[in-house]
Amino acid sequence: MNTSSHNMSINEFGIEQPHWRNWVGNQSCIRAARAAPESEDQLCNLVREATEKGLNVRAAGSGHSFTPVALTSGLHMTLSGMRGVRHIDHDKRRVTAAAGTTINELVKVLKAEGLSMINQGDIDSQALAGALTTGTHGTGLTLGNMASAVVGMKLVQPNGDIIVVDESTPDLLEASRVSMGLLGVISEMTLQLSDSYNLYERIWREDFESAMDMHDELADKHRHFSFFWCPTEASRHCYCLPDTAATSKSGRTTDVCEIKIMDITDRAPFKAEFEKAAYSADVYPIEYVPNFHELEYAVPVAHGKDAVRAVRKLMLEDFRDAIYPIEYRFTAGDDGWISPFYEQDSVTVSVSGEPGKDYWDYLRAVDQILRSFGARPHWGKLHFLTGQDVTDIYPRAQDFRAMRRKLDPQGFFLNDHLTQLFR
Ligand SMILES: Cc1cc2nc3c(=O)[nH]c(=O)nc-3n(C[C@H](O)[C@H](O)[C@H](O)COP(=O)(O)OP(=O)(O)OC[C@H]3O[C@@H](n4cnc5c(N)ncnc54)[C@H](O)[C@@H]3O)c2cc1C
Repeated sequence: MNTSSHNMSINEFGIEQPHWRNWVGNQSCIRAARAAPESEDQLCNLVREATEKGLNVRAAGSGHSFTPVALTSGLHMTLSGMRGVRHIDHDKRRVTAAAGTTINELVKVLKAEGLSMINQGDIDSQALAGALTTGTHGTGLTLGNMASAVVGMKLVQPNGDIIVVDESTPDLLEASRVSMGLLGVISEMTLQLSDSYNLYERIWREDFESAMDMHDELADKHRHFSFFWCPTEASRHCYCLPDTAATSKSGRTTDVCEIKIMDITDRAPFKAEFEKAAYSADVYPIEYVPNFHELEYAVPVAHGKDAVRAVRKLMLEDFRDAIYPIEYRFTAGDDGWISPFYEQDSVTVSVSGEPGKDYWDYLRAVDQILRSFGARPHWGKLHFLTGQDVTDIYPRAQDFRAMRRKLDPQGFFLNDHLTQLFR
């Protein structure tokens, strides 16, 4: 087997350690073995040889999840050696790419080919499989999460065999779109795209109540609408948000919403202050640094305004030192069995705690509020779900568990966190 427990990573003190940690540094694991396959054959052999030795198997993407979804004490793999576009079908506007391809790498190819992803999230550094399998989303009332564009994938099974998932296997397709690697290691994915488009983005600042007044109209009228509510002047620096004071009507710098709208445009690329028009994938990403631990829950769209009002009140009244912005976005419902957006058009509300501080009472209080609105958490962001909660809030949870047990009866693709939720 092409793995070694002597293959150590080197920490910032120059000490070799057999551990992996995520991007923000709040999750880590000691691995029995690690590997970076460079081909599908190698990947299949690695998985088979590991399970024959009784090792559990997990693949990591770019480590941008805040939850322990990518951890294992068994064989831990990165698919960073399996990257690149494998096929483009211009007639159907579809792309097949290796699972380790980053979104950024993918969209560079799509731009050159006159194609675009239908929607994207706030960053593009995640691996394709890593991002899609946790239900990563952008914003847009009528736009699904990124995994809702998956029309096929290849899943490596515990014995090293490959299952091909496509529209002829609808149950598997719906179950695997958001599946956190529980149905197999993804070696490649095929995505539905759209023709290339440019986006025109505008950012400005509104008082919270005016933002609420405009909410329905902005959501209906624009392809993308989202905002960051910033309780203090310092809040927007926590997320590197632009200083839009110049465009604010009231000039207020506290208790304000930084509103963003984006629409498809034919205008030639230009960039003015707080306005931008460019190829889709050049507009979507924003900048973050690893200084926050995030929770994000999806609530039915009808409860969006009440939910954000309640979380804002909690922050202003009970947790005044919780200053990271609330991010507020929209995602259309989909058919992914354990997608947070399963058959539910949703608004997502996210908050963050500061690394090094005890933010758990705050996040627990936000959890309680959002639960009361029927929330489902983002699998890659902090949450408090139990296995019973999963059963209660996902109508197809038991179907998903049955599918997982059928494909992986011995639970090689589980870890402690996922066992609690999906055994
Ligand atoms: C700065 C920042 C910005 C973010 N912005 C957004 C956003 O705008 N919208 C949003 O919804 N989320 C966002 N997220 C969350 C992020 O998109 C998800 O957590 C995503 O899953 C991370 O992708 P990754 O490649 O880092 O995967 P990882 O975190 O490394 O892994 C995620 C899951 O994928 C599994 N996996 C990875 N590769 C494979 C494979 N080949 N086969 C099977 N399973 C695999 C892992 O085992 C794990 O279960 C953000 C996170 C950060 C830190």
